[in-house]
Parts: sequence; C-alpha cells; structure tokens
Amino acid sequence: MCGIVGYVGTKKAYPILINGLTALEYRGYDSAGIASMEENKICVMKDKGRVSNLNSIPGLTDLTGTIGIAHTRWATHGKPSKENSHPHMDNSETFAVVHNGIIENYNDLRKFLTDNGYKFLSQTDTEVIPNLIHYYFSKESGDNKFLSAVQKATADLKGSFAIEVLSSLYPNQMIVVRKDSPLVIGKGKEGYHIASDIPALLEYTRDFYLLDDYEYTVIENNSISFYDKNLNEHSKEIKNIEWAATAAEKNGYDDYMLKEIYEQPTAIRETIGSRLKLGEPCDFSDIEISKDYLSTINKIYIVACGTAMHAGLTGKKFIENLCKIPVEVDIASEFRYRNPIVDSKTLCIFISQSGETADTIAALKLCRENGAKTLAVSNVIGSSITREADYTIYTHAGPEIAVASTKAYTSQVVLLGILAVYFAEILGSQSQEAIENIKKDILELPQKVETSLKSADEVKAFAKQIYGEKDMFFIGRGSDYNVALEGSLKLKEISYIHSEAYASGELKHGPIALIEKDITVISILTDENLVEKSISNIQEVITRGAKTFIITNLDLSNAHFENVIHIEKTNPLLSPILSVIPLQLLSYYISKEKGLDVDKPRNLAKSVTVE
Ligand code: GLU
Repeated sequence: MCGIVGYVGTKKAYPILINGLTALEYRGYDSAGIASMEENKICVMKDKGRVSNLNSIPGLTDLTGTIGIAHTRWATHGKPSKENSHPHMDNSETFAVVHNGIIENYNDLRKFLTDNGYKFLSQTDTEVIPNLIHYYFSKESGDNKFLSAVQKATADLKGSFAIEVLSSLYPNQMIVVRKDSPLVIGKGKEGYHIASDIPALLEYTRDFYLLDDYEYTVIENNSISFYDKNLNEHSKEIKNIEWAATAAEKNGYDDYMLKEIYEQPTAIRETIGSRLKLGEPCDFSDIEISKDYLSTINKIYIVACGTAMHAGLTGKKFIENLCKIPVEVDIASEFRYRNPIVDSKTLCIFISQSGETADTIAALKLCRENGAKTLAVSNVIGSSITREADYTIYTHAGPEIAVASTKAYTSQVVLLGILAVYFAEILGSQSQEAIENIKKDILELPQKVETSLKSADEVKAFAKQIYGEKDMFFIGRGSDYNVALEGSLKLKEISYIHSEAYASGELKHGPIALIEKDITVISILTDENLVEKSISNIQEVITRGAKTFIITNLDLSNAHFENVIHIEKTNPLLSPILSVIPLQLLSYYISKEKGLDVDKPRNLAKSVTVE
C-alpha cells in the first residue's frame, strides 16, 4: 500500500516526483507529499487528497532541488489530513522521511521519545522514525553518522517499512531501506529513481536494483552503495526488466481497468509462453520439481487473498482433477492463525500479483518454518514473495495498474492450469490423450477470450439497466461458483453495490429469503453435467420476481431466459477464464454509469502490504 518515489540526479526533482506519484497513485490516494532538498534546507509540501492537489500548493514550481522524496498515502494510523501526510520530519527539521508500512511498536517508541523531550505533530506511526534517527544521530560521532543513525533507528522498528530519508546536513545524500515493504531503485540516464514498484519507473529505465530486507542503500550524486544489516558494504547486481515502457500507460483507453480487460488475450498468450506445446512435455525447467518429491506430497495448500484466492479455487479444481492430490484453498490472513497442518509432505502454493501481499508472505514463511516446500505464483519479477519461496513461476501478464484485478486473475488461473498439467505429466496421473486434449484447450484460450470480449456492448446495455440497484446475487455450481465469487467481488470493489455469491444449490438453504421482485441474479452456467439443476435454480429465483443475467456456453433457448450472454465452449475446468470476462465488463460499466473512479476505488489500494 502507498506509493513511494525518490530521485537523486541532475534534473529538477519535483516534476519527476509528481510524475512518479501519479503513476503510483493506485497504491494509495488519501494524501500526497514531497520533500525537495533546496540548498541545505529540506522543503516539504503536502496535503490530503489526490496527487493533483500538490500542483496547487504555492511555491511548488519554485523548487529547484535535484534530490527529493515523495509519498502517496493509504492511511493506517491517523486520518487523512495535512499533518498526517508524509514526508514527516523530526523536531529539529534535520531529517525527512517517507514511509510505507506499519510500525507496530510505535506507541512504545513514541513514549520513549516523548520521555526524551520529543514532540509529535501527527497521529501517524511514521513520525517516530525521523525523531528516532535524530535521537541516534545526536549520540553518534565519526564519518558515517547519518547511515549509522538510520541503521540504529530502523533496528528498533517492529513491523514493516520501506523508507527514504533525507538530511539537511547531508544535502547530496538519500538513504533508503526496506523490511517487508516493497522498494526498487532504477538507474536512469540522469540519476537514480526510487519507487515502490517497477511500472512507475519504466519511462526512465529498465535497469533495477531489487533491495533485500535491511539492505541499507546510500545514493549520493552519481554513486550508489549497499550495506548489510551490520553496515558492511557489498556490491549488488543490477537486473534488466523486459516490460515495455508503454505497458504502464492507458494507450487510448479511458481507464486502466478497461485496457487490462482487453489485454487478457495477450496476457494469457504470454503466460502460456513456451511452457506448453502440443506433443511435448510442459516446460517448467525454471523450477524442476522431481517425480520423487511430488510423489511424496499428500496435500497441497493454495494460499492467497482476494481475487488471487479466487484464482486458487480454480487451481484446486485443476490439481484435484488432473493429479488426484487433495488441495485446500485458504485466505492468507486466516491460514496463518489456524495452526494449519503443514509438513514436508505438503506443497504450499502462494499467489500474489504484486508479490508483496503481506498476509501471503507471512503465510509462506510459516509453511517454510514447518518444513514444507513453497511455490510462489507472481506477476512481478524479483518481488518479495519470489525471494522467499523455494520455487517461483511468473504469470508474465505485464503491469496491472487498476486496483481491481482482471488480467492478473485470468493469467493466474491459466498458469495454475498449466502447472496442474505439468504435475499430471510427472505423476502419470492422466492418459497422454487427456493431457494433449487439455493442452489444446489451453492453447485455444486467447482466441476464445476474444469472443468473450465481444459481449461488451450487450453487457454495457444491461449495466445501464441495473446500475442503480443496491443488492445483487451471483450464482453458479462447480467452477461457475468460483467465478460467481470473483464476479461479486469485482462488483463490490468498483461499483460499491452490495452483492452475494452463492453456490446455486445453496440458495434454498437460506438466502432465497432475500429474493424479491426485480432483484438482479447473475448466473454462470457452463457445465453440461450441471445444466439441468442450474436451470431449475434460475427458475426458482425468476418465480420469486428476480431479473436474471446469464453467462453460458450452452444452448438454453428452450428455457426462454432473458439477458443471455454466450461465450465459447471449452473444457469445464477452463471455463472460468472465459466466463469471468463479461462479469469484469459488467462491474466496469456499472461503475462508469455511476460516475465512479474505476481505477481507484475508495478505501482500496493495489498491493496490500499491510497485514
Ligand atoms: N502507516 C503509515 C501512515 O499511516 C504509512 C501508511 C502507508 O503505507 O501509506 O501514515
């Protein structure tokens, strides 16, 4: 959560900082601020509200400093206000800090500092950091006072942080360090760029340093130095990231979400990449799981949050069907605290688009401590989760900017499908013919997603009819139920309409009491084996006055339903990838009809780096 930007170079810092904040605003947007080093004085400008508000702060355009830090906030401690906005300074205004994360022991640290004469101007947990740095700095002697004070202060912090620190006594330096919160440093032509994620920096560079926890980094003029926890200096490899610079732009679409919905055929092609070809074993040479190891596995956990968890539900179906290994899917924040039964015979799969989801990373660490092997599914190369896991596979969906996930979800589902085929090949749990058939179905997905996208006009027309509603239902059976869950989440996230997703057969066990005249029930119906029962469930709600919207690949003409969207047929295991598309579009168009900010829904942020 929250976006951090920094710059140390030869150009004026403030336009670069504001540009970076705008690119990162999807990570948090309740307040924004920058600090620029003006000669030997740190000049802070900040306010609550969107990044664009910064442009109206008097004096902004007079800033000439070439080193600066910036922040867009997703408040955890203290309401959005000017005082609580970052950067925060120590009482003597010698140090300025921006921070992403949560300082869990901030109350203790605040008391300690208050007892030592420090005063606090905000309600944030963050404000302890610059004051703690000042406290240690005032006790230090020697050459490396600034770095040493930052190291001592951060050693006292419990929780998560990515911070950038400026000091008016070291006007050419910036120190950055992270622990469990993301931070990358790009080496551009005209200086070093720091940000919470890679897409924000693609217009400046493709060369990145991916920082480890407690890797103290000092950037000064044209040099960069890395130090470990004990301040021993070391060299660090720079990584080239292949994403296209334009991948993080809107390219003519009104919103990132719409662009990302339409990018799904390409994203899925990239996910399939060279992993899956007809007549050849799947290529997972990057992880190479052995038959000996896989044969010992008696249970798989898939752990994730939100949309990624919904992808996991479909992954469970793939693995159980193709590999005959029982799979449990769990919400990361619950999994950690329920003493899960995990040992060396359990394989634990973690899904996180950003690779920075705090709950998911914590769950991964727990599984590793219990002796299980861990496999990460992520979209972001070098992200925290990929560095913690035994194995990593990437979705290669390209940057996803809209807060509501679309292409990351379908790419995750596709990748889990290919992984299940790979496991089935290793285990010999399916006939060669069955393997070839599902491979063929997977390879046809991008073109079939194109057909699902053609439903946009019909979906938009339906959105215009229903956007004013307060409650809706999503129903389905089997894999369709998993898609109902995802469709309902998407609707809540960006249209603020309350909705419930139910397994169709479960309706009559309670929720059908809520069905009344004109309530909208959205049904997904793609499995021939379940069609009759599903049709009966739809009839049950129509009888009680419901208005229906149906997504299907079956011929339902005999049932005379209204508002039917047709998608292509595929293996029932894969149908979520096709049936979710009209639901993504429905949420999008409802949100647009309501005049909402599709890409930045209220209270949400991309990349949930707090637990
Ligand atoms: N905990 C800090 C605050 O509430 C930082 C939140 C963030 O990551 O944006 O100000």
